[in-house]
Amino acid sequence: MKTLTKELQDKITPAMAIKLLKDGNQRFINNLKVNRNLLNQVNETSESQHPFAVIISCMDSRTSAELIFDQGLGDIFSIRIAGNVINEDILGSAEFGCKVIGAKVVVVLGHTGCGAIKGAVQNVDLGHLHFITSKIQRCIGPIKKEIPNATTQDLCSHVTKGNVELGVSDLTARSSILEEMAHKEEIIIVGALYDVSTGVVEFL
Ligand SMILES: [Zn+2]
Repeated sequence: MKTLTKELQDKITPAMAIKLLKDGNQRFINNLKVNRNLLNQVNETSESQHPFAVIISCMDSRTSAELIFDQGLGDIFSIRIAGNVINEDILGSAEFGCKVIGAKVVVVLGHTGCGAIKGAVQNVDLGHLHFITSKIQRCIGPIKKEIPNATTQDLCSHVTKGNVELGVSDLTARSSILEEMAHKEEIIIVGALYDVSTGVVEFL
């Protein structure tokens, strides 16, 4: 697995970028991770970086993008925030990753057992948490209408997926840069779900 150069990054299409992530997750769940010389990669990436992906995932300690996609130094931009919600800073980070540095895919990655999702469903109010839960709660109303008698667990699982879908639509609805790049097929923006009990990432 070579450290990414500008030439290698240029050759990666959005579809190939998704395949690279899927292959990496396959290696992860089969315990076949690539034996990288990370110290060499420190040297090889010291002057510049050419990552192929932007992963927007939760801060959850079990969802480190580099680990679950088996990537090395210089491979992916890892943006992490409770509940993988989208705000202005995250939009700017994703725009930088794609437009300036040349990443080919943006993944909004939710996960099972997410504390932020549970907090949003249970309307937990603590300190600044409402900035996060209020973003997630935008999808709860429609889901409750669709499944009126859902248990909390059921609701959490639907909201986890709904929140990923919201994240994907937020990226293009709120960023003309990302919207245009996706329209021109320079990038692809996708949602995915990580199962903390199996290590499997399912692309939506
Ligand atoms: Zn989480």
